[in-house]
Amino acid sequence: MKYDVIIIGGGAAGLFCAIEAGKRGRRTLVIEHNAQVGRKIIISGGGRCNFTNIDVRPENFISGNPHFCKSALARYTPQDFVGLVKKHKIDFYEKTQGQLFCRESSRLIVDMLIDECRKAKVEIVLDCSVKAVRKDDLFELETTRGKYLCTSLIIATGGFSFPKIGATGFGYKIAKQFGLKLTETRPSLVALVLANGNSYTKLAGISVAAAVTTGRHSFRENILFTHRGLSGPAILQISNYWQKEIPVSIDLLPENSAEAILKDKRNSKQTLANFLGTLLPDRFAEGFASANLPDKQLDQLSNREIGRVAEMLNNWEVRFALTEGYDRAEVTLGGVSTNELSSQTMEAKRIAGLHFIGEVVDVTGWLGGYNFQWAWASGFAAGNSV
Ligand SMILES: Cc1cc2nc3c(=O)[nH]c(=O)nc-3n(C[C@H](O)[C@H](O)[C@H](O)COP(=O)(O)OP(=O)(O)OC[C@H]3O[C@@H](n4cnc5c(N)ncnc54)[C@H](O)[C@@H]3O)c2cc1C
Repeated sequence: MKYDVIIIGGGAAGLFCAIEAGKRGRRTLVIEHNAQVGRKIIISGGGRCNFTNIDVRPENFISGNPHFCKSALARYTPQDFVGLVKKHKIDFYEKTQGQLFCRESSRLIVDMLIDECRKAKVEIVLDCSVKAVRKDDLFELETTRGKYLCTSLIIATGGFSFPKIGATGFGYKIAKQFGLKLTETRPSLVALVLANGNSYTKLAGISVAAAVTTGRHSFRENILFTHRGLSGPAILQISNYWQKEIPVSIDLLPENSAEAILKDKRNSKQTLANFLGTLLPDRFAEGFASANLPDKQLDQLSNREIGRVAEMLNNWEVRFALTEGYDRAEVTLGGVSTNELSSQTMEAKRIAGLHFIGEVVDVTGWLGGYNFQWAWASGFAAGNSV
């Protein structure tokens, strides 16, 4: 069982790489330990797969080397993937901010990839676990279905997130075995748990439009109160940049200066909670005011109090203790160090023939289709070099 190319992991990056290698006439095998390929694609985007973003830029990715992703992203663009989706007559739409989703089901994306694999004569073996990898002249893989040999080995096993659908740390283990450096990994695109307990449990389920900021990064989307802390798109986005020691700033009135409005209303007999209810959802206003703000009418607030209330509304500083972990995280931040890989081919600089693609690499995208675009683009780069 000798192949030109073996790809471990039949997810987004692995299947895409296999298609490109197969199209170039390479005898290509994908090894997947699940009973089906593309399980993460199937559950992605709430079952509608946000398969790319029209506006993908290097700034949408986090990596030890922010330049690393540029070459692959430039050679396989969102428009290229959209072309493939159109060729397969898959109906899609832009939900918001350039995010493209399937109109029907994410299964159509998996079917498309399987169809392209079939056309490129790619072989896929399911329910197969790789136990050990050795390198001599060729790579030798010991698996639950026997021994396989190959010239080029592609590691496309993804990250740790969502272990219940087959995620493993296998790719990191192989990187370590071959002496490649890893950057620290952690769950990301994930809900965050409040430090010092949650005084907002009554607000669980409420969503509010906000601007969430840490350092130079700011996202203007919804936040969602949960039983343990905060979630929602703005929080998932900020989780990529979150550092435990540094509080996150949440602007609950991003369109307005709270201080200017409060000063304007300083003769009003309205309570702060009622007033807040005119700007924010009622249930939120009530719960937030009772946890954080003085129980007073607007005309009773001193200048100092107005300043403090305004600060709470436009710059609410929130400390988080931890994330909700890999069971809930959409991605793994960190991974195989980009210093170890060629940005053109994804091949390990020190181990000829060994490539890493997709999420296992230290390149993590924002929420919004960026992670799939990285999977397609890095798979394309490797598939065209093997
Ligand atoms: C709930 C959820 C929703 C998401 N929604 C989106 C979205 O809408 N848009 C977006 O851009 N991104 C989304 N993501 C992120 C995106 O799914 C991943 O970034 C992307 O799938 C990574 O592709 P990959 O091929 O590197 O890894 P994966 O897709 O995870 O594929 C890795 C494959 O390797 C297999 N594998 C692992 N270990 C082994 C082993 N030892 N032997 C054999 N096979 C192995 C796994 O079973 C899996 O099939 C979502 C993630 C989650 C968890």
